[in-house]
Amino acid sequence: MGLLSEGSPLSWEETKKWCDHVRKHGVQQFIHQWNKLKDTCKPELKWGDEVEYMLVAFKHEEEEAKLLLKAGPVLDALQEMEKTKPDDHPTTWRPEYAAYMVEGTPGKPYGGLLAHFNNVEANMRLRREEVIKLLNKNETALSLTAFPRTGCLNFSEPPHKATPEAGPKEGASRSLFYPDEVIFQGHPRFKTLTRNIRHRRKEKVIINIPVFKDTKTKEPFIEDFSVLGDDGEAARAAKPDHIYMDCMGFGMGCSCLQMTFQACNIAEARSLYDQLTPLTPIFLALSAASPIHRGFLSDIDCRWNIISSSVDCRTREERGLEPLKENKFRIQKSRYASTDSYLSPCGEKYNDIELVMDKDIYKTLINAGIDHLLAQHIAHLFIRDPVALFSEKIHQSDTDETDHFENLQSTNWQTMRFKPPPPNSGIGWRVEFRPVEVQLTDFENAAFVVFIVLMTRVILSFNLDFLIPISKVDENMETSQKKDAAVNGKFWFKKDPFTRETPPECATKCKNRCRTVSECMEDEYRLMTADEIINGSADFPGLVELINMYLDNNIECDVDTRCTILQYVKLIKARASGELKTTAKWMRDFVTSHPDYKQDSIVSEKINYDLIKLADQITRGEKECPELIFCHNTRSTDNIPRAMEKSEEQLISKKKMSKSNGVDV
Ligand code: ADP
Ligand code: MG
Ligand code: MG
Ligand code: MG
Ligand code: MG
Repeated sequence: MGLLSEGSPLSWEETKKWCDHVRKHGVQQFIHQWNKLKDTCKPELKWGDEVEYMLVAFKHEEEEAKLLLKAGPVLDALQEMEKTKPDDHPTTWRPEYAAYMVEGTPGKPYGGLLAHFNNVEANMRLRREEVIKLLNKNETALSLTAFPRTGCLNFSEPPHKATPEAGPKEGASRSLFYPDEVIFQGHPRFKTLTRNIRHRRKEKVIINIPVFKDTKTKEPFIEDFSVLGDDGEAARAAKPDHIYMDCMGFGMGCSCLQMTFQACNIAEARSLYDQLTPLTPIFLALSAASPIHRGFLSDIDCRWNIISSSVDCRTREERGLEPLKENKFRIQKSRYASTDSYLSPCGEKYNDIELVMDKDIYKTLINAGIDHLLAQHIAHLFIRDPVALFSEKIHQSDTDETDHFENLQSTNWQTMRFKPPPPNSGIGWRVEFRPVEVQLTDFENAAFVVFIVLMTRVILSFNLDFLIPISKVDENMETSQKKDAAVNGKFWFKKDPFTRETPPECATKCKNRCRTVSECMEDEYRLMTADEIINGSADFPGLVELINMYLDNNIECDVDTRCTILQYVKLIKARASGELKTTAKWMRDFVTSHPDYKQDSIVSEKINYDLIKLADQITRGEKECPELIFCHNTRSTDNIPRAMEKSEEQLISKKKMSKSNGVDV
C-alpha cells in the first residue's frame, strides 16, 4: 500500500473543501521532485515483491475456517525487528485494508544480479514463517487471493454483525455483509477511505459479478436481502444472476502479488511502464485465483473487476447516468482500473482511448517544462478527488514533502504504477506491476515474480516492443478475468516484438504506406492464446524463448540460479499450456467435486473448511497437488544473509574483474 499518513481523518464534507488545494499543491510537489530528479541515474536494477497474507483460524470441531482478525497484534510483533534494527531486517511488514491481512516485503530490495533470484522464494518462506510463529496452533497465514466465504454470516473470528443502518451513528461501509470490525482499525486510512468513497459516490458501491450457473442454481438467481436489513438499496442494485456485494472490503480485502522495479532513469522507467502494460492481462489470466465470492461460485476467475467496483467513488453524473451539474468530468473508469495511457514516445501512437484530464493541471505541468505524455498522465490521475485526508497534513511544503501528490497517486490503483522517487531517499524512478493474483505457495509466487523480473531484463536487453493500442489492452483485461481464460482466452498481442521503431519515422512510414495509421497498426498484432504468448507458435517466439535467449547470453548466470529459474519458468509454461491448472480452476474443480456440493453454486461452510484446510496443507508442503504444481526442488534454500553475501561477493569479484579488463559493469 502507498501512503500511510498519521493523523485525524476528515469527513467527506470536510475533505471536499480541500480537494483543489490538495491537487494544486500535489502537482507543485510533483513538479519540484521532477525538476530535482529528472536527470538522476541509478544504474542498478533494484526490485522487490509484495505479498499480502490472510490470517485464518480453523475451528476443527465445527469444521469451519474463518478470517482471523488479529493483524493488529501480529503486525506489532512483526514490525519489532524493523524498529530495533532499521537498517538490517530481512523482512518488512505493513498493514493492509482488512484486520485479517498483513503485507510483507523483503527487508531490502534485490539487486541487479541474477543470483538474487535464489533469494526470492527463501525470503517469502521466511516471511510466512515469521507470521505463523506468532499464531496459535489452529491458525495459519495463507496467501489466498479471495477468501471464499467473505461476507457470509460469521465469516470472521471473532464474529461480528454487519451494521447496514443509516443514521447519525452509521458505520463506515453500511454493508449488509461486511462488519466494520473486519476493516483494519490500527490506522484510520482504511475506514476513512471506505466511508468517504461511499459519501462521495452518494450511495453504497455496487459490485455485481456473474454467478456460475450450475444445474441446480436458482433460476433466476435472485437473493432476498431484506432479511439482512436491506432498505431497498441492495434490491435495486443487485442484478439477477449475479453475486451482489456492497462494500470496499470485498475488493480491498482481496490479496495480491506486486513487484516494483527501479529503472536506470526516468526514460527507462517510462519505457518499462509501457512495455509491461500489454503483459498485465496475460499475467492476470495465468495467475487467476479467485473464483468464489460471498459463498458462491462465480463465472469469473479473477478479483480485478471486483476491486475496481469496490472503490468506485464516481457519482452518477461522472458515470454518465445524469447530466453534469455538480461534477466536472464524465469519467470512464473507476480509480481502480487498467492503465489508461502509455508514457514513452514509442507509446504515443497507441494511446487510443479518451483520456479525461484536468486541463489546468495539464497546463501547469506543461508550463513547468514537462512533456505532453507525462503531463497528461499526471493530469489524468488528478481528475480524482482525495478521499482520505488528515487534518495534520493539510498544510505542507511544496518542496520538501510529497504527501498531497502521494494522496492522489496512491488512490489511483492501476495495473501499472509509475512511481517517482520519494524525496531525499536515494531511490530512483520505479514502476510497479500490479495485476497478479497471489498464489498459495511461495514457490508459485516466486515463479511469477522471477518471470516478470526476467521479462524486464529481456525487454531492456533486446529493446523489445510489445506495444499495442491501449484499447486492445483493455479488451484483454476483460478477457483475462473470464473463467479459464488462461487456456481458452484469446488476447491481442504484438506479432513481432523485435521491431521497435522510433515514433516520428513510424508515423511517416505509416502515412506513406497505409491508408491510415490504425490500419497499419492492425497488422502489428493478432489474437493469441496465453499458450502461444508464453510458449510460442509457428510465427511467434514466445516469452519463454526470449528469456532463454537472454539467459544463454548471460555469462553471469551460475548453475544454481539457472536451475532455480528453470523450475519457475516451467511452472508458468505449464499454466499457459494448460498442463497445470490455475488456482482458480483448481478451486472450482475442488468445489464441484466435493461430496457436499449440490450443483447449486453454493460453497458451504464445510466445503470452505475442506478447501482452506487443503490449501493450508499445500502451502506448508504437507500435501502435494500435482494438478496445480509439479514436483520441484529449487535451490532457494539459502538463508537470506548468506544468499545476499553470495550475491555481493559475486558483484565484488565481477567489479574487480571488469576493472582489470577495463569494462564497465
Ligand atoms: P507500495 O505499497 O507503495 O507499492 P512497498 O514499499 O510496499 O510499496 O513495496 C515496494 C517494493 O519495492 C518492495 O518489495 C521493496 O523491496 C521494493 N523496493 C524498495 N526500494 C526499491 C528501489 N529502490 N527500487 C526498486 N524496488 C524497491
Ligand atoms: Mg504495491
Ligand atoms: Mg498491498
Ligand atoms: Mg506495499
Ligand atoms: Mg491490497
